[in-house]
Amino acid sequence: MIRITSIVGARPNFMKVAPLHRAFGQMPDRIQSTVIHTGQHFDEKMSQVFFDELELPVPDHFLGVGQGSHSVITARIMLGLEPILINSRPDLLIVVGDVTSTLAAALVANRLRIPVAHVEAGLRSMDREMPEEINRLLTDQISDYLFITEQSAQSNLLLENIPQEKIFFTGNCMIDSLAFYKERSSDPELPARYGVRAGEYMLMTMHRPSNVDDREGLQKIIRILQRICNQRQVIFPMHPRTRNKLESLRLWDEMNAINGLILTEPLAYLEFINLMRWSALLLTDSGGVQEETTYLGIPCVTFRRTTERPVTVEIGSNILMSDLDEEVTVRTVNDILEGKVKRGSIPPFWDGQAAVRIRDIILQKFS
Ligand code: UDP
Repeated sequence: MIRITSIVGARPNFMKVAPLHRAFGQMPDRIQSTVIHTGQHFDEKMSQVFFDELELPVPDHFLGVGQGSHSVITARIMLGLEPILINSRPDLLIVVGDVTSTLAAALVANRLRIPVAHVEAGLRSMDREMPEEINRLLTDQISDYLFITEQSAQSNLLLENIPQEKIFFTGNCMIDSLAFYKERSSDPELPARYGVRAGEYMLMTMHRPSNVDDREGLQKIIRILQRICNQRQVIFPMHPRTRNKLESLRLWDEMNAINGLILTEPLAYLEFINLMRWSALLLTDSGGVQEETTYLGIPCVTFRRTTERPVTVEIGSNILMSDLDEEVTVRTVNDILEGKVKRGSIPPFWDGQAAVRIRDIILQKFS
């Protein structure tokens, strides 16, 4: 029996671990799968709802690290996880993505000589100002199995002296979830419940520190929204980080007053992917949303200078928009709404089977 423990901590982890846990569960005689939740995101809307919808098990351990500075959270994860791993000694620890929990958990397992698998390894924005970039770089250096989602990751890892035999091109687990739930949760009536028409509205997410942590960035976003909401309505489920910044910088009222802007709490996964499907375009700075729109063939305007997911630009429907440039953004959005759409295609191995491929490699390595 291979004993595998997967770590989840924040919103973008849940939809990546869910298909892995499902694939492991299909082999109950060979794999025992457990999940540890660090509690980096812990409230109903950023965490619990994903457990309910994605059929994730109740975590075997909940570390409850809560809020705090980056160092406090890292330290609490490590202190909470170490005794659990000493006690349970899984054969493999799986970490996904690029959040604080990813690196903190990998470090603990590495020191305990427990093999680490990094799912979504090798992505690089080449921007070391991003905390996620540091998490990606360091996690990959101490991982034993690196499961990658796109070819760019392979060359990045080889340049960082990671041996080829540790790298496996298995595809995209986040897309596994999207492919699995897309039809099951399809609801063409959903846009009407927001007072918008399918194919005519825009959907937005925005939460990267580089965009929302200072007044200047938020003011630029407000000005862009004031202009594009004149054309079409925008639904904006707001990340708690963005909302807190708007409130503390006293910009919330100005944002809230924009005509045609529909502000909501962060949405549950099934509702969000449904709204994405029926939208005319996405405005985002999210990593995962760039991939999901590429899979769905929906135009995506990404408010970032670089992306660690270049395949979404090279063959997908993603366009990068640096420095929150108001004129360029408004023109790009208008072009898309007028039908000048960048057509893309689906990258290799983004087919709903990535978790099964990862499982089969693990079975081969550990038997
Ligand atoms: N998402 C969601 N509800 C929302 C916004 C996003 O369920 O209101 C999902 C989205 O479909 C994707 C994931 O959250 O699967 C992306 O997470 P996030 O943007 O927080 O993280 P990133 O990918 O930027 O690390």
